[in-house]
Amino acid sequence: MENPLDDEIILYTKIEDYEARLAFVGPMEVEIANLDKIVGKYELGKQESLWAHCGLNGCDRPHRFGYIIRMKDGCETNCGHDCGHREFGVNFEEVEAQYKRGEEVQARRRAAEDVLVQARPWLDELIRLLPAIRAAEGLMNDFSNDFRWRISFWGQLHKIAKAGGGVNLTVRDEDGKLVTEPIGRIHGCRVLIQRPIWNSDYIASQVVPWLESLSAANAIEIDEYTFKKSDGVQSILREAPQFIEDVTLFLNRNNFELFDKMCMRGICKPGSSGWGDAIRKWMGESQRAA
Ligand SMILES: [Zn+2]
Repeated sequence: MENPLDDEIILYTKIEDYEARLAFVGPMEVEIANLDKIVGKYELGKQESLWAHCGLNGCDRPHRFGYIIRMKDGCETNCGHDCGHREFGVNFEEVEAQYKRGEEVQARRRAAEDVLVQARPWLDELIRLLPAIRAAEGLMNDFSNDFRWRISFWGQLHKIAKAGGGVNLTVRDEDGKLVTEPIGRIHGCRVLIQRPIWNSDYIASQVVPWLESLSAANAIEIDEYTFKKSDGVQSILREAPQFIEDVTLFLNRNNFELFDKMCMRGICKPGSSGWGDAIRKWMGESQRAA
């Protein structure tokens, strides 16, 4: 026997499952020189009544853990892990490691096939979403260009977004105690704090051509790069509709009225001149976003 562990190992958790293998014979007398390889392993339930009786050379001892072994003539039987160790010179840990490697290879193969099958639907969906992503991204860039240098406002805006969007004024009540008075809620403010995955130029110049090449391929290399990239595509597709909706919510007229109120009520300073013009411009712009 050259290498008893050179192939994938199949895991069995029930005796009847490995006994159903076509070449499975059951207990047999064999010359050790006729052993070919380990084709499977079994792990049975805790109770001894569930354990398998070793099929190697009349051994017959019950084992919870063991192997399915193949002879050079193709016949198979089962043997306990200690008999396997004695006859094959392998440890259960090695078989375990080999089994795990096989599982990983299979999982990668399946994932690669999935990516290949999904490439076309992903591409179609991405092309459908791209104009709306681009428009939303452009509006947010414009908004940022107009307001981010108003440091006090920009800082408050992000602080409020991180806290969930509720805008509160701190005032003194009749007894002179400081209390919080809610004056509104910034809608769609998640767009300000989510991770910046929105780069439509990158999507158009990198992701779309990659998906086009995948759609045209019959097989792909199984590598980390492919999986990382396909994860990226899936997160774009998953999050884009929410992003587009959030931008529409965020650039809503009500929000700009609230921004104006935040400055008028002293929650933040509008910064240098032109605040009113900027707010009025964006109230007009919000019609475009909606
Ligand atoms: Zn045995």
